[in-house]
Amino acid sequence: MNQTIIDLRSDTVTKPCKSMIMAMMEAEVGDDVFGEDPTVNALENKGAQLFGKESGLYCSSGSQTNQVAIKAHTQPGDEVICDSTSHVYRYEGGGIAFNSGASVRLIDGNRGRITATDVLDNINPEDPHCPITNLVSVENTANKGGGSCYDIDELSKIKKVCSKNNLPLHLDGARFFNAITKTGETALEHGALFDSISICLSKGLGSPIGSLLLGSSDFIKKARRIRKVYGGGMRQAGFIAAAGIYALDNNISRLNEDHQRAKELKSILSAQNYIEEIIPVETNIIIFKLRENISNSDFLNKLESQGIKAISFGPRLIRFVTHLDFTDDMLTITTDILKNKMF
Ligand SMILES: *Cc1c(COP(=O)(O)O)cnc(C)c1O
Repeated sequence: MNQTIIDLRSDTVTKPCKSMIMAMMEAEVGDDVFGEDPTVNALENKGAQLFGKESGLYCSSGSQTNQVAIKAHTQPGDEVICDSTSHVYRYEGGGIAFNSGASVRLIDGNRGRITATDVLDNINPEDPHCPITNLVSVENTANKGGGSCYDIDELSKIKKVCSKNNLPLHLDGARFFNAITKTGETALEHGALFDSISICLSKGLGSPIGSLLLGSSDFIKKARRIRKVYGGGMRQAGFIAAAGIYALDNNISRLNEDHQRAKELKSILSAQNYIEEIIPVETNIIIFKLRENISNSDFLNKLESQGIKAISFGPRLIRFVTHLDFTDDMLTITTDILKNKMF
């Protein structure tokens, strides 16, 4: 019997649909290192316009956009303020130190979110003992926070503190569109608050590859040079950029479906006695804590033997992520297993 695999490990596991592949096959291309790929240029402009920014830079991954941005904003020895669970610190292979020679000031935020007061309290004084605080980075939605969303008023306050102290503000918006789907705000409103913005096309938006870095023309000019140094200058990248354009045009408005399915999973999980706690579910991420007598590997193996994949997300923590290849039929199968076939 051929069992359907239901993959809840991440929203990166999606595969391009037929019409996305058609768009890719039909893309007009050129050498992007010479700035001559019309599809890459169109994607970069589209992303920039969406956020009211002057320019965009198409990169291979969200780690690359974040790391290029951090390098562009800092000098070796500078300090970056971010949450202690943030992707730029935890999941980019030590890139802040490796690529930029910068240190970090880690804040224990609320489900991955920091406040304006946190930022203000952690700016170093003008003192040669201290690294120079030179960047603030926030993540929206916050992955480790269970897909939590920032309050735009708090972001405005953070922006004010940054402006007053001459600090650039970077957004790791790998799942930014999930955040504004939940809050009903616009990319333009958020765009005005940040000096640089990274968005992933390869997460909830379903593109196979790619992220965009957005900012002023001067910033992107600098970032383009850094991307080249990092080996990220691509040639006829229009073939993959076309998937990004398709993703922005077609896959933002459907994100609410993923959020609804996440809510349903949450309501099923909250009734199961093998679960101790669920982090509030705001978007497409569900993080839950297993009861003490159940190990992560037991839980994951039991799920996997029934065709469902998920990941361990810390001690007794498991993460599910819903996405555009997780259908209603799969939701039905999953809820049946979670209700009746676990412990
Ligand atoms: C996935 C992700 C990224 C980028 O990851 P890549 O795999 O390098 O594209 C950045 N920030 C957050 C919060 C993420 O979840």
